Amino acid sequence: MNAVFYEMISEIAKNIQANKDFLTDLDREIGDGDHGINMARGFSNVMSKLNVDEEMSISDSLKKVGMIIISTVGGASGPLYGSAFLKAAMATRNHEQVDGELLGIILKASLEGIQERGKATRGDKTIIDALEPACEIYFKGINEGESTIECMQAACKAAEGGIESTKLIAARKGRASYLGERSIGYQDPGATSTLIMLQSITDVLVR
Ligand code: ADP
Ligand code: MG
Ligand code: MG
Repeated sequence: MNAVFYEMISEIAKNIQANKDFLTDLDREIGDGDHGINMARGFSNVMSKLNVDEEMSISDSLKKVGMIIISTVGGASGPLYGSAFLKAAMATRNHEQVDGELLGIILKASLEGIQERGKATRGDKTIIDALEPACEIYFKGINEGESTIECMQAACKAAEGGIESTKLIAARKGRASYLGERSIGYQDPGATSTLIMLQSITDVLVR
């Protein structure tokens, strides 16, 4: 398995674990208080089943992660993040290097996978509010000739802005939508876990 890819997944798993209570507390405010638990369970399963020494393409590794996430994260976020990884797996066939091109393909495919599955658009107070602006800023940077690291750092900033915006709006998708206007004032847990993943990928690049 590609060593950098493995490092990125390990970093995501580590940071999801470190933020388990934070994510769960956010979900307790506007959901059912399990987002951190769901994500930590899923990524701990991923880490126990991924083997860096196994001969496996990046595409097949993404597929494996996606399948594990679908079967172990549960809730709304499991199938959504699972779709992101599976769609990224399909889009990255024949790519064996972790570089700016690959990360762009993964970001774009993840966004498409989550939108196809969850039908949310920006402003619904979901993962999309962090991932879509991140994806847009990433490609803007790439088109302007910025480095991969700069583009990922800008993507993280955009995701942070997206999270801030979720505090100001009522949820229209997922469990938090049952609260209607009462969900205003709280940041979306899924948008927050998306930032944690983007930040983890960036941290590995910067190292
Ligand atoms: P559940 O709500 O089933 O308990 P989680 O708590 O694990 O699942 O995940 C909740 C998060 O899922 C929300 O904070 C939101 O970001 C995300 N989410 C829910 N529905 C959608 C959707 N249709 N599209 C994108 N993200 C969604
Ligand atoms: Mg929940
Ligand atoms: Mg739940």
